[in-house]
Order: sequence, then structure tokens, then C-alpha cells
Amino acid sequence: MLNAQEKISQIQQQLNQYNHEYYVLDQPTVPDVEYDRLMNELIALETANPSLKTLDSPSQKVGGQALKSFSQVTHQLPMLSLDNVFSLEDFHAFVKRVKDRLNNTKALTFCAEPKLDGLAVSLRYEQGQLVQAATRGDGSVGENITTNIRTIKSIPLKLMGVPGKDFPAIVEVRGEVFMPKASFNALNELAKKRGEKGFANPRNAAAGSLRQLDSKITAKRNLAFYAYSLGFVGEVTFADAGGSETIDNLDLTDTFFANSHHQRLCQIKALGLPMCPEVRLLDTEQACDAFYQDILAKRNGLSYEIDGTVLKVDDISLQKRLGFVARAPRWAIAYKFPAEEELTTVDDVEFQV
Ligand code: NAD
Repeated sequence: MLNAQEKISQIQQQLNQYNHEYYVLDQPTVPDVEYDRLMNELIALETANPSLKTLDSPSQKVGGQALKSFSQVTHQLPMLSLDNVFSLEDFHAFVKRVKDRLNNTKALTFCAEPKLDGLAVSLRYEQGQLVQAATRGDGSVGENITTNIRTIKSIPLKLMGVPGKDFPAIVEVRGEVFMPKASFNALNELAKKRGEKGFANPRNAAAGSLRQLDSKITAKRNLAFYAYSLGFVGEVTFADAGGSETIDNLDLTDTFFANSHHQRLCQIKALGLPMCPEVRLLDTEQACDAFYQDILAKRNGLSYEIDGTVLKVDDISLQKRLGFVARAPRWAIAYKFPAEEELTTVDDVEFQV
């Protein structure tokens, strides 16, 4: 029998290996459901033995390290992950935690979104022009994939209707790059015809396609994008104070964007970025559950892969009061669908079509 310390370090080692296979190699060897089971076991052990929880535990970290074959981008604001729940009971427990923290007994309004199964990217616009795009990486440092992002037709190279010189110089938009099911099926069909191996699922196909060194390959993969939040919005000024450079980040988000997450998404859409048409503003927990059931029923008919819903406290000032824990915001939760399938046996092998 292993003691708690030994068990924790055994699970951490196993999860670190799965993370490397999934985030760095885009080649998972276990189904997500097995990964999630192991992660929950680790969290339960760490909760029962808080002195054994370390900052470098996979339970405290976001994603995986950026590939060295790309130049690195340090995110001006970190890109976090999401905490998960898998049952209505756990979703209610999440809402209770939020209300307790806010000392609030009134109903909360939620922005309800499908959980898109692709990979997170941050798009940086300066003076309305797309100047940089980066993957999430480990949350602090991602890969510079600007050239590849420029091949995605639905991502504007220039923001629409930027209202004059008063508009913030820098606007970062975050969202998910994904491969629509039709493109994924066509890609794997072509691979089969050529006797090559395809991708295990649309998420791996999107990640593998976006992290290509040759952007001509990315261009052929028909990737798509939906925006779901803002990153840094404002101005950065550099000054030379007696020989040492000072940097001032002037945050203008609240000046130009609404105090509602849902309204912010509509503002991002008005700038020309695609927003998922299933996003809803809901004002009860019951409505969130009905949304989950509705999206679950629609899942197979949607043209893109999803693995749950994301429910976000809509009021930005409440989001700020709630803040973050190590790897995820306290104001949002991924309410995930039950596992649909085990990992397919198709190996994720790069091929050039
Ligand atoms: P996650 O997928 O659990 O949740 C966070 C991510 O959701 C965000 O970074 C964003 O990319 C995405 N997202 C989609 N729709 C969104 C929306 N509307 N709003 C906000 N974010 C949205 O995140 P993760 O930390 O990248 O990965 C953890 C999950 O990945 C695990 O739970 C597991 O299922 C899977 N995983 C599997 C393996 C494996 O070996 N099979 C390894 C590592 C991770």
C-alpha cells in the first residue's frame, strides 16, 4: 500500500506525462475521462492532505509548455483554464460557493456558452490591426502562431468600426480555434485514401493544424474561431526614468466595454469577430440547467464539437470580486457532458494535405 505522499507523487508523474502527450505532442494516449478521473483523485488527495499540495502539482497548473519551434509570447494577462463539474448537484454547489463568497442570496445572472472543443488563443489588435496571435501555452507563455492565425478566414485582420482615435490602442480578444466536424471528417477521409493515419478527434486536429511551421498547411485545414472573452485592453507606455525603462499599462477595459460579460461578447462581435450563436444570458440556476440539457440534445446536430457548457457570472464587477484561484477563475465553471466515447485507436500522425 502506498502512503498519501507516494500516491500523490505517482499520480502527479502520470498526469505530467499525459499533459505532455496532449498539450505538447497533440497525441493523447488515454481518453479525457481517464485523465479527469485521475485529476479528481489527485485533487481529493491534496484536499485531504493540504501540506502535500505543491505549486508545481498538475492540479495547480494550466496546460503545457509552449513548443520551442515557435517564438514565445508572454501574455500580458494570464490565460487560465476552467474548473469542471459533471453533475447538477456539483453545479449547484458551485453557485452556492459563489453566493457565499459574495454574501449574496439573490439570483445571479449567468452568461451561458457551449464549451468548444478546440484550443484557446489570444489575438492582439493594435490600432485595429491584428498584430499577434498566441496559444495559451502554460497560461503565462504561449506560442507565436500569428502567421497561421492569419489563414483563418473568419478572423478579421482589421477590426470593424473602430471609433476613431479615442478607441484603445490595444485590444486583445480571446477565444477558441476549432475544426468544424465536416473539415475534420474530410481531412481524415483524405488521410485514409492516402493510406495515412488521421487525427484522433477535432480538438487534436485543430491543435496540430494550428501549430504547423508551414502556414500553407494550416490554410488548407479550414479552421474556425469563436471569441469568448477579452484579454488586455488599453495602452502601454514606455518611459526612460533616469536610465531605467519604466512600463505603464493603462487598463481601459471598463471605459470601452460594458459591465456585462454577455454585452462584452456582443461588443466583440460588433468589432467583426465571430461569436458562438448558442450563447445566452440566463437569470436563474434552473435556466442554466435547461441550457445544459438543450445543448446536450443539440450536440450531435451542431457543426462543431463541444464537450459541455461554460457558465460565467455575467456581472464583471462581481467577477472582479470573486477573482481567481491557481489555474481558474472563481466566477466560471465548465459543466461538462458525460464522456461520449473512449479514445479512438487512430494515432495522431502529422500528414500534409
Ligand atoms: P478545459 O478544456 O477543461 O477548460 C478550459 C478551456 O476551455 C479554455 O482554456 C478554453 O480553451 C476552453 N473553452 C471552450 N469554450 C470556452 C468558453 N465558452 N469560455 C471559456 N473557455 C472555453 O481546459 P484545459 O485546462 O485545456 O484541459 C483540461 C482538459 O483537457 C481535461 O479536463 C481533459 O479533459 C483534457 N486533457 C486530456 C488529456 C489526455 O491525456 N487525454 C491530457 C490533458 C488534458
